[in-house]
Amino acid sequence: MNAGFPPPAQGPLVNGLSVDVEDWFQVGAFEKVIARGEWDAIKTRVEDNVARVIDLFAEAEVRATFFTLGWVAKRHPAMIRRIAEAGHELASHGYDHARVFTFSPREFAEDIRKARAIIEDCGGQAVTGYRAPSFSIDHRTPWAFEVLAEHGYAYSSSVAPVVHDHYGWPEAPRFAFRPLAASPLIEIPVTTAMLGSRRVAAGGGGFFRVLPYAFSRWAIRQVNRVEGRPAVFYFHPWEVDPDQPRVAHAPMRSRLRHYTGLSKMAGKLRELVHEFRWGRMDELAAREAAQLALAEDVLA
Ligand SMILES: [Zn+2]
Repeated sequence: MNAGFPPPAQGPLVNGLSVDVEDWFQVGAFEKVIARGEWDAIKTRVEDNVARVIDLFAEAEVRATFFTLGWVAKRHPAMIRRIAEAGHELASHGYDHARVFTFSPREFAEDIRKARAIIEDCGGQAVTGYRAPSFSIDHRTPWAFEVLAEHGYAYSSSVAPVVHDHYGWPEAPRFAFRPLAASPLIEIPVTTAMLGSRRVAAGGGGFFRVLPYAFSRWAIRQVNRVEGRPAVFYFHPWEVDPDQPRVAHAPMRSRLRHYTGLSKMAGKLRELVHEFRWGRMDELAAREAAQLALAEDVLA
């Protein structure tokens, strides 16, 4: 789908940097152990962690996109304002982290409407971007892009075009694409790198904490320099919080994935944000949309 693109513009590429704002107890891996009804009784850590992330970005002079849960924004309006005041983009991560494939189209519409209203109220800026919880737009939810387009979203970054045990849509394009013929909405998948003929996750998640930073450096360089395309990276505020409470009853696999490498995370992120050029996802979406339009003109 992306073959035949014109060569990228001159100069170093600006990649997309994103943070999925949710608290330590809201991650998909713990959803069977900590019910949504219990969330209000749990001690929150998201404000302190987001403050750390804002400081880390300020130090590197980068702006990013914060895909935020409506549930979190409702309870932390001052934090949402601080994110906006620091020059970052506020975007939607849905209301309470329910995956898109668990919704009917109508329920999904209600979820994104509710989340956006809260985030816009708190942040005072228009929300034009969406990231599905746990990258849950895939082959099961072909209607999701239509709902996003109907609600006026400019872009989504909700697809992980890779094989993964919890999520993934391995057949999806690896780079920005327009999922609907009749809409300018674009999808910018999270980054994968090619290891031989295999797609490997390279845009954040457990692997970034578990593997040495050198792997991520290689992967992002590969995407930027060899393929000439921008990368999209994401992480969570809880990943810079080694002192978060441990969920004892979670499955071993979930615990391993969640807790490994937390103490080294801030240092790795610091390397990452200094080594490559990063910017907000809405700005990346605008550049990618322009490039897609250009490619269509060339083909027309
Ligand atoms: Zn999430």
